[in-house]
Amino acid sequence: MKVAKFGGSSLADAAQIKKVCSILTSDEDRKVLVVSAPGKRYSDDIKVTDLLIALADARIAGQAGNRELDAVLNRYSSICEELDIKDVMPSIEEAIRTRVIEKADSSEAYMDAVKALGEDCCARLVASYLNKIGFKANYCNPKVAGLFLKSEMGHVTVLPESYDQLALLAELDGICVFPGFFGYSKDGKVITFSRGGSDITGAILAASLHASVYENWTDVDNVYAVNPNLVSNPFPVNEITYDEMRELAYAGFSVLHEEALYPAFVKGIPVHIRNTNNPSSKGTRIVSKRRNYDSLVTGIAGEKGFCTLNMSKYLMNREVGFVVKVLSIIADEGLSVEHMPSGIDSISIILRSADFTAEKERRVIERISIELQVDEISVNRDLAIVMIVGEAMANTVGTTARAATALSKAGINLEIINQGASEISVMFGVREEYCSYAVRVLYKEFFG
Ligand code: ASP
Repeated sequence: MKVAKFGGSSLADAAQIKKVCSILTSDEDRKVLVVSAPGKRYSDDIKVTDLLIALADARIAGQAGNRELDAVLNRYSSICEELDIKDVMPSIEEAIRTRVIEKADSSEAYMDAVKALGEDCCARLVASYLNKIGFKANYCNPKVAGLFLKSEMGHVTVLPESYDQLALLAELDGICVFPGFFGYSKDGKVITFSRGGSDITGAILAASLHASVYENWTDVDNVYAVNPNLVSNPFPVNEITYDEMRELAYAGFSVLHEEALYPAFVKGIPVHIRNTNNPSSKGTRIVSKRRNYDSLVTGIAGEKGFCTLNMSKYLMNREVGFVVKVLSIIADEGLSVEHMPSGIDSISIILRSADFTAEKERRVIERISIELQVDEISVNRDLAIVMIVGEAMANTVGTTARAATALSKAGINLEIINQGASEISVMFGVREEYCSYAVRVLYKEFFG
């Protein structure tokens, strides 16, 4: 069984929905369809989710929100009209109108309930169209199907029992059309994921159903080895492992939101990114283990916004517990340590600059100076991290040397070099102003 998730641009209008349904029905293994809300039809169009957010905002501010409500209804009715499925529009309109006037416990809860309508109505609409063209399909409500979530301090997690419940969808006759982006709390309230969260729904369903593949249909042919805004015609990535993707995402290169794929990753389900507008293109597969290596390096990425906290102390390496004490001071400030390159008598802690505020910096320096009696301590801000990532590098001698030589020839000073034991990535710390340049230099070195 395959779970196929289609993003907002794939469902933006009737023509796109026809493409989705023809893709879906061309393979009978595609039993579960996860839909986003209709997205942008052209560059300055507004996504249905954004229209719904504007509607909820207006109502929260005490306005009627009629203009926003009409805009939402118009999007659905024009799609229904073009697909000639007018009989589903009254139930969509009723669902929207009822939800909009319903009271909620808080404005956040109200926002969640209204925001979720985009996906919910899209799923009803697509199910209706599939039936019209002769394919048995059911709209699946996440509450009935058992997608239960918990929201704590803005962080949404899936309740573990959901997986067994959702597995029962396999027994449904016909195609299951499941709205992405939201689930329900145990007491029946709508909870949405963060933006783009339909990807998470797809991964949860793929994991629950032990799908052979989780297809994630979008509007690009594949993922590229480097940000296409930095290099023209970059090398396409046909296959990438979850681990490689995580490393790249760390340096600001987002394939799909890494957390979104977690449920699929845990079950080892391959994810296949594909283009709705060009279904014959190969796409990019995200897998647990790779079979092919098209290139030594899989991807290159760079991200600004890092800093280092550097300290040194004579005979540091003989002092038992030194690192533990430093890390506990950092942890007391709620800071997450990114990397920790060290020398014999020195250690650097790499942090995200935005988290390491001036106030935290002052407290950390004071505590480390007093409690650990270091000889020197300093902070170096405005650093960028540039990474080359690829599992094939582990078996190849000289990759780091090639990268470092290319960067040095380009006149880029390396402030930090870090390679983990897995040898899946090499990280370089450079001044922020060199970030994009360093990525281009490395791309040229490894991809020509
Ligand atoms: N419609 C939601 C958004 O625009 C969720 C999604 O598309 O995945 O963020």
